[in-house]
Amino acid sequence: MARTLLPPLASSDLNGIIIPVPATSKTDLYRKLPSVDELLHRPDLAEIISREGQAAVADAARVVLASLRAEIAAGRLDDDVDLALSGISDAIARQVRQSLSYSLRPVINATGVILHTNLGRAPLAASALEHIRDASSGYSNLEFDIATGQRGQRDVHVDRLFRNLLSEQVGANGHLPAAISTIVVNNNAAAVLLALNTLAEGGEVIVSRGELVEIGGSFRIPDVMSKSNATLREVGTTNRTRVADYEHAINEKTRLLLRVHRSNFQITGFTEQPELAELAALARKRNLPLMEDLGSGALFELSSVGVIGEPTVLDSLGAGVDVVSYSGDKLLGGSQAGILSGRSDLVSRMRANSLFRALRVDKLTYAALEATLLAYVKHDHDAIPALRMMHLSKDAIGRRVEAVAAIRASGLTLEIVDGESVIGGGAAPSAVLPTCLLAVTRKGLSADEISARLRAGDPPVIARVEEGRVLLDLRTIFPEQDEIVVAALRAL
Ligand SMILES: *Cc1c(COP(=O)(O)O)cnc(C)c1O
Repeated sequence: MARTLLPPLASSDLNGIIIPVPATSKTDLYRKLPSVDELLHRPDLAEIISREGQAAVADAARVVLASLRAEIAAGRLDDDVDLALSGISDAIARQVRQSLSYSLRPVINATGVILHTNLGRAPLAASALEHIRDASSGYSNLEFDIATGQRGQRDVHVDRLFRNLLSEQVGANGHLPAAISTIVVNNNAAAVLLALNTLAEGGEVIVSRGELVEIGGSFRIPDVMSKSNATLREVGTTNRTRVADYEHAINEKTRLLLRVHRSNFQITGFTEQPELAELAALARKRNLPLMEDLGSGALFELSSVGVIGEPTVLDSLGAGVDVVSYSGDKLLGGSQAGILSGRSDLVSRMRANSLFRALRVDKLTYAALEATLLAYVKHDHDAIPALRMMHLSKDAIGRRVEAVAAIRASGLTLEIVDGESVIGGGAAPSAVLPTCLLAVTRKGLSADEISARLRAGDPPVIARVEEGRVLLDLRTIFPEQDEIVVAALRAL
């Protein structure tokens, strides 16, 4: 049956000139190829068929036959076709394995970038994984009120915990709005879109020119603004914006004052930015809401884990911001999500917006967030991998690096050098954490070749290459993965 699929082969095109080729030779080669049916009856494929199923093996056989046909057509397989055919069962088995294996795979993050956007940002807490499994392997009360037997709301599961965490300091901070509500959407970009659309559709939003940021992966404030159907009203200059600039721009079309946290860059030198409290006072005076896109949502003062100067969600709310948006998988250390916390009346309007339905998250996200937030409620910060990694001292990392550096393999040189880990994920651009790095060199291999070999392992080890050297930062490697790193280095 496969033979009927063969391409016509009477001629080949060389530099635009049609030259007749000895049609028989290629046709003969094609004739040697077995059909899919014949392959499926081969005894050496019986075992893989019984294990993986006939459909998967037939698909793989088609792929292998197609590539053999392509080789013949390209004239690359003249006399070797018998050799290729002798290995066809192995080729099919390899193809089955490849097509049935996951594309999304675990990797070892040796880059020292804790919230590495390309590597999945925050690793989840063990309790989050357990809760995901418990809540989603069967049914759950996602939108069901067990006490009344009535339909419930999915946000209640995390709203209560955010309320707990964000009202902790109510007593200490008079400005905190009385009732704080929180809703969760797909990511922070979605949260900003929902908030702008709800609070400012058809009207103007005032933003400082120093805050018209782009966050990696094509999130640009002006673009999100236009998608939300609000009009951007820029004020001030790149380096200096004053409260008066906002005040002068307010008119009857103004719906919102927006502050955007410069989460992945810094402006230094001759600069000015109003205090949040000043903006909040202006917003109250003119009866406008003030929103802050915080980006990274630190839920407590992170100086205790070495991250200085990163504003917290409470700082914003305490300064009088009405709505704060932040990511679930940056400094919070949970799953991908966009979180909107703030004045209950404004958050209720966002919940009622039909966009909320389009941007809502599923039970997996609620389960991950609920477990992560519970760790915060219990002050068990080390249960959250990203926070635990930030918290690691250089000495503790140094001891592990020494153990790895002690291995001997011919041609391999391992040196311990001082360096810095970074938070990443567009969070805390100025925060760096001192660390010990392992510099890897090997005779006869360039740095790029070494890092390619480390990536080719299973699991892949993703390293940094700096100034022609491969550097491994154990801060972002889980201690139980150190042995895998040792094996990967030996395999170089
Ligand atoms: C990271 C970030 C975003 C985008 O958040 P995602 O969760 O990646 O969608 C938006 N605004 C700011 C200020 C950020 O730092």
